[in-house]
Amino acid sequence: SKAKLFDEKTDTRTTFKDVAGLEGAKEEVEEIVEFLKNPDKYTSLGGKIPKGALLVGPPGTGKTLLAKAVAGEAKVPFFSLSGSDFVEMFVGVGASRVRDLFKQAKDKSPSIIFIDEIDAIGRARGKNNFTGSNDERENTLNQLLTEMDGFGSNTNVIVLAATNRADVLDKALMRAGRFDRLIYVDLPDIRERKEIFEVHLRPIKTAETLDLDFLARQTPGFSGADIANVCNEAALIAARKEKKAVTKQDFLDAVDRIVGGLEKKNKIIT
Ligand code: ATP
Repeated sequence: SKAKLFDEKTDTRTTFKDVAGLEGAKEEVEEIVEFLKNPDKYTSLGGKIPKGALLVGPPGTGKTLLAKAVAGEAKVPFFSLSGSDFVEMFVGVGASRVRDLFKQAKDKSPSIIFIDEIDAIGRARGKNNFTGSNDERENTLNQLLTEMDGFGSNTNVIVLAATNRADVLDKALMRAGRFDRLIYVDLPDIRERKEIFEVHLRPIKTAETLDLDFLARQTPGFSGADIANVCNEAALIAARKEKKAVTKQDFLDAVDRIVGGLEKKNKIIT
């Protein structure tokens, strides 16, 4: 299959209003939006536009969402691949997939390339943590480095990559002219959780005015993805009971259910 290209007809664009909290990270990527919209302004004094930035943080904190919002704000195409695709689907053709992806993005530039779970291809060389052969992974990584070095700063393709394991990445990826900007995307604090609830309550029919401070207090350690899950689950719980709208108790039941799920997940890991 081809790399996914944003389709104006079937998808509604993600913008910064969909991303709650993450003020620092948003500020950093706002600059990337500016580069994409107005490259000539930034190169006029001889400066080079960065080619890549690495989004680093725990699972479900909004890294993919933020990358999509950059493309949405700049109104440019979004090409994405996941590092785990290389492990599971593209065995033997990793390098040619990378070449393909960059070609498509350059043809449609200005554009964004997003590589999720880059650690699956970008682990430090010589450490055999790859399900496929290590040569295969190295070839894929080398092709990625070659592509990033190969396009000039006038190409106007910006590569965003996400990982929750920046510590295992090959240092070659972080060298100047590659992913030389690190953007931290952390778990939300209580105020940010409240904002994330606000975003995900938009489509939900609620029975009463919900106390969002209360919900934020009930969800310490939850990621944005967990909170999205709570809102969805609450709506399903209420619907199952044939209620006309979602109540506070449905949210509490959903929180319990998600906490149960998180505990199970942690048990499997440890
Ligand atoms: P992973 O590392 O698991 O790929 P991620 O950091 O890329 O996770 P996303 O895929 O962007 O996380 O988040 C999953 C979903 O969780 C989003 O589509 C969104 O619905 C919700 N979400 C996460 N963070 C936020 C946030 N800051 N604001 C609003 N929604 C969020």
